[in-house]
Amino acid sequence: MHYGIDVGGTKIEFAVFDRSFSRIHTHRINTPTDSYSEFVDANRALIQSADDEYGDHCTVGLGLAGIVDQNGKSFSTNVPCLNGHHVQADLSLAIDRNVRCINDVRAFALSEARGGAAEGFPTMVGVILGTGAASGFCRNGVPRLGADGIAGEWGHIPIPATVVAEHGLPLFDCTCGKQGCIETYVSGPGLANLARHYMGEEVRPADCIARMRKGEVSAVRAFEVWVDCIAHVISQLVLHNNPHVIVIGGGMSKVEELYTLLPDAVDALLLHGVSPPPIRRAVFGDDSGVRGAAIVGSVV
Ligand SMILES: [Zn+2]
Repeated sequence: MHYGIDVGGTKIEFAVFDRSFSRIHTHRINTPTDSYSEFVDANRALIQSADDEYGDHCTVGLGLAGIVDQNGKSFSTNVPCLNGHHVQADLSLAIDRNVRCINDVRAFALSEARGGAAEGFPTMVGVILGTGAASGFCRNGVPRLGADGIAGEWGHIPIPATVVAEHGLPLFDCTCGKQGCIETYVSGPGLANLARHYMGEEVRPADCIARMRKGEVSAVRAFEVWVDCIAHVISQLVLHNNPHVIVIGGGMSKVEELYTLLPDAVDALLLHGVSPPPIRRAVFGDDSGVRGAAIVGSVV
């Protein structure tokens, strides 16, 4: 068996997977965010409780919403008690077993590369469009993390000037403290920013999409520009990484229009002679983070 742990800002999801990484058990607890010792103790308790049923030979992988460098040293704005700590080493010591840590977006990409929407493709980029925006890159089912585990954090690169100029867009404030980050245009909150800009009121992403589907002109405009911003980002990912397939996950991946609109929109932005790769919706949905963590843990 393989244990996967997905650490978010409010919940820790613990799941048990069989050898083919099908989920057989799930348990959720609140995330201790203020005390590092409580965080380690909570994870140890989850693992020991599962060991009582499945035995202490199960592998352990942990996905974090934050930066995890090569040594497992972590930084997370959502779970501040982890900052600067070597979660991987400390948890390994606590349970006397090797634990592997990975960023949750890279875990999502790995899960889709291994048995998911990118199964069978030599290279893939897994794009998360949710509360935030980022990606993971896998080659032959192995994640490429970079020196500090931040490869794919393009959500905090500035949005291309061409799309800003074409639509006369403002530079939105980002949670990272900068302005004009890609995330503030292409995530769920990004669609809300564009809805505020075009509709002149606060509109939740789901409401903007519902009003777009009814044909409300300003909602249609906000949605079209949101898709165009995503197309610009995906065309850059194609030129950076030239993946065989792109998989979209996160809450906004449920928007069906993306899969009919993006291929032509991306194609129009690429160089002549360059074809866009297939753009697919994630297979495992909300399970991808914890499943990817379990896969990482299995290669100890
Ligand atoms: Zn930012």
